Amino acid sequence: MDWRYRAACRDVDPELFFPIGSSGPALIQIDEAKAVCAVCPVRSRCETFGAGEYDGVWGGLTAAERRLGSGTGLGGGTGRPGHAEGRPAGNRPSSSVAP
Ligand code: SF4
Repeated sequence: MDWRYRAACRDVDPELFFPIGSSGPALIQIDEAKAVCAVCPVRSRCETFGAGEYDGVWGGLTAAERRLGSGTGLGGGTGRPGHAEGRPAGNRPSSSVAP
């Protein structure tokens, strides 16, 4: 079974993981996204796959945090994390299967 099937964000609005900006209301949204990631059983896998993404919260890290190397150092993955089409696992088109 693909690891993305186990993603904690499977049933969460994908937009939560793609805040607009990095201040004001976006900070609240980022905290909410990170709270989901904090209990995700595939967080490290997601972080790896999201290492090259330019936006969004992947593996509990924002794009800025990924650039600063704030993660586990597992980055360098190729392909999409539990997020189909660049969106967190639970936030893909209805025809998609969870990560
Ligand atoms: S964004 Fe990644 S770490 Fe966060 S809940 Fe989804 S799959 Fe898990």
